[in-house]
Amino acid sequence: MATIFSRIVRGEIPSYKVAEDDRFYAFLDINPRKPGHTLVIPKQEVDYIFDLDPEQLGDLFRFAQRVAHAISAVIPCNRVGVGVLGLEVPHAHIHLIPLDTEADLNLSRPICKIPAEEMQRICQAIAKKFE
Ligand code: 5GP
Repeated sequence: MATIFSRIVRGEIPSYKVAEDDRFYAFLDINPRKPGHTLVIPKQEVDYIFDLDPEQLGDLFRFAQRVAHAISAVIPCNRVGVGVLGLEVPHAHIHLIPLDTEADLNLSRPICKIPAEEMQRICQAIAKKFE
């Protein structure tokens, strides 16, 4: 059965897409710990990120680097932090989270309640910077 993230890539489930190419896809986390919290995934369905082919893993991070630069151009922050858990969704993904303090990278933090219009605005602004 397809993962929820594969269903997002196919457009079966809506997402706030910020970037895409033939192999990778980036979209806002639906439960943002900070405004601009983004997930970057390979389209290839692999559960554990370190099971990716080494070249694919490198390319995933290169893609994430471009997304991170776009995020930091839009969201005021000290820098963009990187988190890899995969405890909830069995499809490799990188969390990119705008950081001001160390605690911002704690994914157990309460979720930010961001109205849909603001999520859309953030999404479009990051997507524009990614171009
Ligand atoms: P992890 O697997 O790294 O522990 O957490 C998975 C992340 O994916 C969580 O931060 C969760 O909010 C996010 N997530 C789960 N389902 C969806 C979804 O359907 N859409 C989006 N945009 N994010 C999701």
